[in-house]
Amino acid sequence: MEATVIRTSGDHVHVRTEEGMILPATLRGKFRLTVHDLTTPVGVGDRVRVRTEEGIAVIEEIFPRRNWLIRVDPNHYHRRQILACNIDQALLLVTVEAPFTPLRYVDGFLVLCEAFDVPAGLAFTKADLPLKPSSEEKRRNLIRLYQQIGYPTFLVSSQTGEGIESLRVYLRNKRTFITGLSGVGKSSLINRLIPFLHLPTQPLVRLTQRGRHTTTYSALYELPEGGEVIDSPGFGEFRIGDVQPSELSHYFPEMRAYLRQCQFNNCLHIDEPGCAVLPAVERGEIPSSRYHTYLALLKELKATPT
Ligand SMILES: [Zn+2]
Repeated sequence: MEATVIRTSGDHVHVRTEEGMILPATLRGKFRLTVHDLTTPVGVGDRVRVRTEEGIAVIEEIFPRRNWLIRVDPNHYHRRQILACNIDQALLLVTVEAPFTPLRYVDGFLVLCEAFDVPAGLAFTKADLPLKPSSEEKRRNLIRLYQQIGYPTFLVSSQTGEGIESLRVYLRNKRTFITGLSGVGKSSLINRLIPFLHLPTQPLVRLTQRGRHTTTYSALYELPEGGEVIDSPGFGEFRIGDVQPSELSHYFPEMRAYLRQCQFNNCLHIDEPGCAVLPAVERGEIPSSRYHTYLALLKELKATPT
C-alpha cells in the first residue's frame, strides 16, 4: 500500500498510510544506492510503497519526487541531507534580535530554494516583543527589501495573533516546509496554527552515552483548514552543493536582469571588466547586503568539495 513519510529522526522513520494509520517504518539496504550519497534515503514528504510486517511498515519503493530540498551534510561534505520532499513552498522564520538571524543565513536559505525551484517566503516572528529602535528599523527595512525582490514576507506574533490570518492564507492547501534558527518561535507558531497539537516549545534533550543530545526530528502536520506543514529542526546552515560558481547569481532574482549584460558569460561579478552587476550594486539597484551574501556564498561554494 502507499504511504507518506511523516516523521524522520536520524534513521527512525514513521509513515502514514492511505487509511490514516501511523506506523514505524524500516528501510532495506538497497535504498542506500542512489545518485546522491544521502545521509538518510528518505525525507519527510516522500511517497513510498510499504508492506506491513508485525506492525512495522517495510518500505519497498520510494516513488519519484516532484521536488526536494537538500543541503550539504555539515558532518560529511560529500553527503547530502534531505530537508523535505514533494513540497509546494518553504518558509523561513526570522528574528532580528534574540536570536539574531544573520542575513547570510536568510539569503543562504533563499538561494537553496531558488536552486531547487521551491517558492520561498519569510516570516518575521515575535512581532509583539519590543525591539531596540535600531533593530525595529532594521526589521522594517528587511521586510521591504525582501518584498521588493518578490518574496512573500510576513510579520507575525504567535502570542497576539498579529499577521497570523495572512499567514494562514499563504499556507492554505499547500505543503510548506518551515524552518529557522532555534529560538525563533517555530513550535509556538505551529501550535498557534494547529490548536491541540501542543508541540513542546523547548527542545527535548536526551542523555546518551556520548553526552546530551537535543532530540531533532522533522515531522509533517496537517493544518485544520487544509494543507500541511513540515516542521524541521533548527538547521544551522543551508550549504548548497552541486552548483557551479557561475550559476550562483541566477539564484538571486534581483540580479537575473543584469546577467546577460555582463561582457563575459562566465562572469562571477567580482571585479571582471564589463560586469553589469557591479554598477547595479553601486547604483543601489541590487541591495548591497544581498551582494555581500552572494560573495560569501561564492567563496563557500568554491571551498566545498563536490
Ligand atoms: Zn558580471
